[in-house]
Amino acid sequence: MRVPHPSILREVAVPALLCVHPHPDDESIACGGVIAQAVDAGYRVKVVTCTRGEEGENLAGIDLGDEDLVTHRVRELADALDELGVSDHEFLGYRDSGMVDTPGNAHPDSFHAADLYEASARLARTIRRFRPDVVVSDDANGTYGHPDHVKGHRVTERALAMAEDPWWHTPDDGEPHAVAKRYVFAFTRSAMLSTHRRLLAEGLASPFGEGDIDESDLVFGIPDEDVTTIVDISPVLDRKRAAMRAHRSQIGEDSFFLNVPEDLVVELFGTEAFVLLAGEVGATPEEDLFAGLAGGTS
Ligand SMILES: [Zn+2]
Repeated sequence: MRVPHPSILREVAVPALLCVHPHPDDESIACGGVIAQAVDAGYRVKVVTCTRGEEGENLAGIDLGDEDLVTHRVRELADALDELGVSDHEFLGYRDSGMVDTPGNAHPDSFHAADLYEASARLARTIRRFRPDVVVSDDANGTYGHPDHVKGHRVTERALAMAEDPWWHTPDDGEPHAVAKRYVFAFTRSAMLSTHRRLLAEGLASPFGEGDIDESDLVFGIPDEDVTTIVDISPVLDRKRAAMRAHRSQIGEDSFFLNVPEDLVVELFGTEAFVLLAGEVGATPEEDLFAGLAGGTS
């Protein structure tokens, strides 16, 4: 049997979180709270970004000077990770595919078009090196259907299977590794509806329009009954918002996230929800991704 390098033995004692996201800004929007909390708890935290967001637009219309948007977005991501306290980051090395049926889908380097085995192998090697206890990605629907978010889920699923497969040899990356808990993050339907109604009641613009809506009007979102874990992130919400603000080019002036009055911020954004896909729920209700693991809070 191969003997792990001593540095790996030392590191595995500290709980570790790996978050896999398709584009710069997804990490902050989806998981900024749990990332900052894991950093504060002294856990090892790594963020993998599958693309550099090449198909994004300069939504805020900011002056980029001589810089192209991709370079700018990479810098925004670095700033956001600084806000969250993350020092371990890597790109998976693919190109943003853009929305469904746009030319970016067909680009040979697009994440959407990437060979599933090849992309999963890259991530599986990272998993073996980093050896996370908890892994988070988009759900099977890509949260809201974007091709890169769907691909991010598939690649993560496949990579987790490869990483623990003893027959898949990657001697330079360490021994096979199985994660204890595998989550997808969840924008719940109830949270979307309550946010919409609260914004309208306050006379504020809602991303869901002006009229009343119900569940049948939502084209994405996770049903509440599927949610296993709701984390109170209010203690680090300022940092999550700062990380989101760091992605300035991707947040238009009319973004409701920036415009919500301070007294509503905790009510509307003070939790992050997740669905456990593999592993054991550590408590009911579960309030911590690390619940039930050594180092978890419950
Ligand atoms: Zn995205």
